[in-house]
Amino acid sequence: MAEQKYQFDVLYLGSGHGAFNGAMPLAQAGFKLGMIEADKIGGTCPNRGCNAKISLDMPVKVKNEVDQMQGHGLTGTTTIDWKANYEHEHEVIDALPNAIGSGLESLGIELIHGKGTLVDEHTIAVNGQNYTADKIVIATGAHYHQLDIPGKEYLNNGTDFLNLAEQPDRMTIIGGGYIAIEFATIAATAGTKVTLMLHHEHALKQFYQPFVEELLKDLEAKGVTIMKNVTPSAVTKKADGYEVETDQGNVASDWILDATGRLPNVEGIGLDEVGVEYDDHKGIAVNDHLQTSVDSIYASGDVLDKEVGRLTPTAIYEGLYLTKLFTGQTTDPIDYPAVPSAVFASPRIAQVGVTPDEAKAHPDQFDVKEVDLSEDWFRLAMRANQGKTITVFDKEGYLVGMTEISSEADNSIGSVLPFIEYHIDPEKMNDFITLFPTIESETKHHL
Ligand SMILES: Cc1cc2nc3c(=O)[nH]c(=O)nc-3n(C[C@H](O)[C@H](O)[C@H](O)COP(=O)(O)OP(=O)(O)OC[C@H]3O[C@@H](n4cnc5c(N)ncnc54)[C@H](O)[C@@H]3O)c2cc1C
Repeated sequence: MAEQKYQFDVLYLGSGHGAFNGAMPLAQAGFKLGMIEADKIGGTCPNRGCNAKISLDMPVKVKNEVDQMQGHGLTGTTTIDWKANYEHEHEVIDALPNAIGSGLESLGIELIHGKGTLVDEHTIAVNGQNYTADKIVIATGAHYHQLDIPGKEYLNNGTDFLNLAEQPDRMTIIGGGYIAIEFATIAATAGTKVTLMLHHEHALKQFYQPFVEELLKDLEAKGVTIMKNVTPSAVTKKADGYEVETDQGNVASDWILDATGRLPNVEGIGLDEVGVEYDDHKGIAVNDHLQTSVDSIYASGDVLDKEVGRLTPTAIYEGLYLTKLFTGQTTDPIDYPAVPSAVFASPRIAQVGVTPDEAKAHPDQFDVKEVDLSEDWFRLAMRANQGKTITVFDKEGYLVGMTEISSEADNSIGSVLPFIEYHIDPEKMNDFITLFPTIESETKHHL
């Protein structure tokens, strides 16, 4: 542990998943910790990310399920009450900062409220006061990119969407990433007339494109107008809303979401002054021990320049890795497991491991199996007559990747992770007895 010359053993800049999940066991191991937070404790995921959006998505998913069962055991459709859904979301998330904060304080972690700026390799200043530590972990996360066009003050970001209490009649969403697609799904299912503006021909570029095309067709069937290869150039205020000017004509709207990406929070935190190397777009550069160019300073979570996804589970994994490193439980470089990712639209797309495109490009290394889930009896019982799974096996028959589009793709992919991560012998997969009948049992049946 640190010499007594510093106030803390470890000082975290930021209190999101990249910080607090690792800090808890580190405090339990007897380390003296401080955590600096300028906004809500818990960071993006609980307050303005995953938890918030999945709460809003719950009625959307249920509505789709109810719609699917019409005439098959259910009569009477449902409608989404936007305001009530917004209130439901806030009932779920509003208590989280206090819950996380008290959990941290109960372990003796000192919470410091305010914006922190690095002063030197062992010091962070907050509200004019210096806090020192043997080691510093920068976990400042990311912020929304904003289009720099005339009228940009009329654009809203993802946090504004999650705090939108009144339903707009017409919404324009600019962007083709997972936040754009998920929020288009929520708004369109609730009955808002959505226009989705894609800067390129494709959306969700990190996902298997034939599945993405299916998803976009599904959005169109929900009434979403999709504009491709479009460039918005200005937003103007009108008597009855706004107009987005583009190279393909103007689009009238009541509310506009700028979902053009997220950038690491590297500005104004003293990185240049202290000599921590970073890139404005990619984030903070670290070695394979998550150590920055300054020995006593580490980084974790979305602010990292990293190949793996900017996701909550990767942020948690990095925070926990640092805990193992600081307590001497490991000296090994960080080694990520197979990282799953999903678009929580209706249907979902989820994937893990070797992608269908990689596998098809290397037929000497991989075998690919495609299953049409619309013929699956369990999906028939759910009336979820849409879905495909692509599994990828290496030449010895081990499962190395899976991609699925279906209403349960997130659960399907979740159920095969141990097979991939622990390199389970194809024969041994049958040693796992699943609950039957479930999505997990059907997923395993199709392997
Ligand atoms: C709309 C949305 C939906 C998402 N959905 C999913 C999902 O379904 N699944 C998933 O895995 N991931 C999802 N994510 C991504 C996930 O939220 C992030 O990967 C995760 O929160 C990263 O954690 P972090 O600790 O690195 O950063 P953050 O959670 O962003 O925490 C960083 C914290 O640092 C604070 N901070 C920054 N600078 C300073 C400073 N100078 N001084 C003090 N405090 C500072 C910030 O206020 C913030 O609280 C979503 C993100 C968004 C925006």
